[in-house]
Amino acid sequence: MDSFTLVIVSALASTIMAATMYLLHRASRRAPCLLDWSAAGLSFLASNAIALLAMRSALPFALAPGVANVFYIGGHYLILAGVRRHLGLRPRYDWLAALALAVLALHASDYAHGPVSQRLLLLTPFVVGINASVVWLLARHPEAAMRGACLPLLLVEAAFMTQMSLRALFLALGEPPRLTFLGNQIWQTGGSLAVLAFLSLATMCCALIVIRHQELALRSASLTDSLTGWFNRRALLDMAEREFQRHRRGGAPLHFLTFDIDHFKTINDQHGHAVGDAAIRHVTNVAAQALRGYDARFRIGGEEFAVLIAGAGHARQAGERLRALIETTPLLIDGQRLTLTVSLGAAACLADDLQWDEALRRADQALYHAKRHGRNRLSVYGEDVPPPAAARLA
Ligand code: GH3
Ligand code: MG
Ligand code: MG
Repeated sequence: MDSFTLVIVSALASTIMAATMYLLHRASRRAPCLLDWSAAGLSFLASNAIALLAMRSALPFALAPGVANVFYIGGHYLILAGVRRHLGLRPRYDWLAALALAVLALHASDYAHGPVSQRLLLLTPFVVGINASVVWLLARHPEAAMRGACLPLLLVEAAFMTQMSLRALFLALGEPPRLTFLGNQIWQTGGSLAVLAFLSLATMCCALIVIRHQELALRSASLTDSLTGWFNRRALLDMAEREFQRHRRGGAPLHFLTFDIDHFKTINDQHGHAVGDAAIRHVTNVAAQALRGYDARFRIGGEEFAVLIAGAGHARQAGERLRALIETTPLLIDGQRLTLTVSLGAAACLADDLQWDEALRRADQALYHAKRHGRNRLSVYGEDVPPPAAARLA
């Protein structure tokens, strides 16, 4: 295949990458990494455009191949920058600037002025280093649910890095084939086709990552309460059922802890609804500090909450810790200290329970007991609330 056609097709693939990433970003602005990936497409396009110009007329060496190679390596780096941003890391455009200067400086060397194969050898460590960084970051993605969607890009980067290394290795060890810019050799065609395949596949892989990420974000939003960040009632139905089935199979203890802010209407009446909201957020933030990270927390009503304590956790200790911490951590409103208290109820799932919500109902009965016995206290069903009394209360 002739170089001219290959460069034109690569330019087309770069344009498609830049446009796809940009349009996806327009459709949903929640993924800024798409702009890095769109810039990657533009950078590859600029590299191809300079190569095309160089085929038509003689350009200064610093521009072609110099700047063309800067854009080519910049394209690879911008994919890495997008992956970093996707992972919540800084994209490090300062590293890109340093990289560009280093690549330009290398083109000033005598070695770079030699045959194309020598420049390939010079540039390979940069490209392989960048590809390897992408592979490394994606392989260690902190979200398990995202790993499947990241695998295709990881494989594409790994494959590109491998072909690049093999080509450099052959060039370094063997008789250097005489590559010419407009040459028609298998070496050059193979390299250009690899770039073409890389650009097309990377476009799809990057889109896949963003789509999966947004799907997970939507799913998580539908299960999360927006005021507190705790799970909502809908999530409780799912998670409690799952934990209850696990409890029935394995027999590990399962407790419900419910709590409600005391005299909350007074807070709303005296300070307004906005302070009421701040009080709800404050209570959940403080409560979270008193609980273990893996106790699932739910906002099940306006100022009513539930905690699912699975495993060997002690509901009484957790509840008492939570109660005491809220009582001793006042909410600061305009320099004023507002002391909040909560009443709590706790209940365990019992062997003859057929549904998880039987235990939640008992925890609610215990909470009602706590309210009736002075508030700012914890009542445990079966201990503070004897079952017959609980039945009367119900
Ligand atoms: P008790 O000690 O018996 O719990 O008394 P209380 O005043 O807290 O009574 P209750 O638990 O029934 O209070 C519920 C109030 O919470 C009624 C409602 O106006 C208020 N509320 C419910 N959801 C929200 C919310 O999202 N924000 C605010 N600011 N208030 C809410
Ligand atoms: Mg209340
Ligand atoms: Mg209430």
